[in-house]
Amino acid sequence: MQTKQAPVVFHIPHSSLFIPKEVLGQFCISEDDLEAEKLLMTDWYTNELFDFSHVIGQSLEFPVSRLVVDPERFENDDAEVMSKVGMGVIYTRRANGAQLRRKIEAAEREKLIELYYRPHHKKFSKLVKTALLESGNCLVLDCHSFPDQSLPYELDQSVGRPDICIGTDSFHTPKSLSDGLTKAFSQSGFSVKVNSPFSGAIVPMEFYGRENRVSSVMVEINRKLYMDESTGKKRPDFNLVLKRIQKGILSVIEGYAS
Ligand SMILES: [Zn+2]
Repeated sequence: MQTKQAPVVFHIPHSSLFIPKEVLGQFCISEDDLEAEKLLMTDWYTNELFDFSHVIGQSLEFPVSRLVVDPERFENDDAEVMSKVGMGVIYTRRANGAQLRRKIEAAEREKLIELYYRPHHKKFSKLVKTALLESGNCLVLDCHSFPDQSLPYELDQSVGRPDICIGTDSFHTPKSLSDGLTKAFSQSGFSVKVNSPFSGAIVPMEFYGRENRVSSVMVEINRKLYMDESTGKKRPDFNLVLKRIQKGILSVIEGYAS
């Protein structure tokens, strides 16, 4: 029986370095320290590493820095474990635990969420919904990168981080998908871990835990592979690494049908 290939949505939440002028005043650290924080927290170049626009799928890139608003967090702090370390949807603390933002009023918080968080999630839902209507299924690839050394705020402080971490969700990630990616990346010479140091995979809230035709998997790339983490500059072999990563992903998602 012929199965139809799932349309792919590449979700790229943490690639932007942009902080709008009107938000700058909320940060209570120096310009240099803000740059240093962006260096640590941005998933640098993931908009290039996961750019498959010439081949397959659609991308959804968050337009501002995660230091403005983090679209990968739950909107409600009570549901968001990272809010305990000042890194809920609106960060109040730096990666090292120091203060990042002055205290913001409820109206300022609402404005940030209304301006950046909700429109992004609306677009995300729409892309997935359209895929479901047109093809009957959808695959979300949640695209990230991570520092080679753990940052103090991270929940998993274990050493020996892999080249690539695959994050899964018990409801939305078919085993064939995480196994396929693990195998493809391993064959390309990368070390791979599943759900370590990061776990989970994003799905629009309206489908989360209830629509099994939406599959999702997270791919996290170790930044040491493609950039100088102390400067933010690409490594000279950036394009080669990009090709190896894309080849691994394509070999799995091109054949993927749910
Ligand atoms: Zn990320």
